Amino acid sequence: MALSGIQIFKMLPKKNCKECGCPTCMAFSMKVAQGALKIEQCPHVSSEALEALSEATAPPMKTIKVGTGEGEYTLGGETVLYRHEKTYVNKTRYAVSLCSCMDDATIDAKIAAIPAVDYERIGERMHVEMIYVNYGAEAGADKYLELVKKAVATGKTLVLGCDDVEVAKAALEIAKAVKPILNGANASNYEAMNALAKEADVVLGVSGANLDEIYDTVAALEKAGNKNLVIDATGASIKETYANAVQIRRAALKDQDRTFGYPTIVNTSKLAVKDKYMQEALVSLFTMKYGSIVVVDELGYAEALPLFGLRQNVFTDPQKPMKVEPGLYPLNGADENSICLTTVDFALTYFIVSGELERSGVPVNLIINDAGGLSVLTSWAAGKFSGTSISTFVKENIEGKVKSRKLIIPGKVAVLKGDLEAKLPGWEIIVAPLEAVQLVKFLKDMKEA
Ligand code: SF4
Repeated sequence: MALSGIQIFKMLPKKNCKECGCPTCMAFSMKVAQGALKIEQCPHVSSEALEALSEATAPPMKTIKVGTGEGEYTLGGETVLYRHEKTYVNKTRYAVSLCSCMDDATIDAKIAAIPAVDYERIGERMHVEMIYVNYGAEAGADKYLELVKKAVATGKTLVLGCDDVEVAKAALEIAKAVKPILNGANASNYEAMNALAKEADVVLGVSGANLDEIYDTVAALEKAGNKNLVIDATGASIKETYANAVQIRRAALKDQDRTFGYPTIVNTSKLAVKDKYMQEALVSLFTMKYGSIVVVDELGYAEALPLFGLRQNVFTDPQKPMKVEPGLYPLNGADENSICLTTVDFALTYFIVSGELERSGVPVNLIINDAGGLSVLTSWAAGKFSGTSISTFVKENIEGKVKSRKLIIPGKVAVLKGDLEAKLPGWEIIVAPLEAVQLVKFLKDMKEA
């Protein structure tokens, strides 16, 4: 259970030296209890107190890393139940399900379809991050091991869904270098699975017939010294799975029960839902409540677009403006002679404007100004997108990179034209239409003129 500020205060040296940045030890204790500061920020705390407090003041939900290299993902570490309370920190990862019970043609088609979803939206790569490799016992161990080899070859991060100890051992031999999750521990095999996971140094997934059984198995694994775990919240039905996911998260964060303080897997492909739109609805549901990894039967481009958009919204810090990096973005093969167009760094503006520019097919150097992550009119009204800020940015960051001296400015700040002509001598300032959707015709007409 979490400690109160008073309990933490009793274990501090009480020097009131301010080296932690707080005016008193009591103020520091309160911030540590709220999770705003770490106990290590007091340089005078004794090693015994540090050991006792580090565990007790750690976030209620563990942060677990899976995969390697570019495929390494951080799961869990959440501190709030609702996104509006603070922010969610580690986004849900999506896994496509493969099973050795499938025929080879189906498996090959599913693997071939995975790279079809791979695009960028507001500076974030959207793609299928993981593959769930399910052991269909009726197909035999050899077929499963062949499937694991195929899955390793994709370069994706793997979750090995296998509760047969011998088969899991052989699968780990093939896949352990890519640091998969071994999702196979249950009440009857957890000791052997624990030994396998520890030897291969991989995360162990825990499942059970119900929450009580999962809880007892996690407690037994913790007692055996393994806290590198994830919990498989998938139940026998949608209703049970939803209840499991919510209760595990509430127990961890609201009741501060650390036995349930682990990231969760929700496997929608096991919920016997045939309709693919219903499957997508379930993936959306468990993105919000509360899957750290959500497994889906398949994820095509059309389903990915709204799903990844939802995830990006849910896992964006509501207290920070959505911004893209200021700079020069050449579009449609633009070079140093291509026309320039400038706008603000508000991510939605960038996304809409760059989309319309790409649709025009006209080579354009898109110049993104540092406008504090605000929209065009808001940043103009706040003085962050002005003749001075645009001309300074262009002089310092753009003039050395492009030869073109034609600059299109947003139609909503047409009032800046005269100021910019004075502050950017040699540049022709052109006013764009009011709406981004009009840019396609505007640019094509300019090109033909
Ligand atoms: Fe107290 Fe430690 Fe902060 Fe000094 S650094 S004021 S001893 S909590």
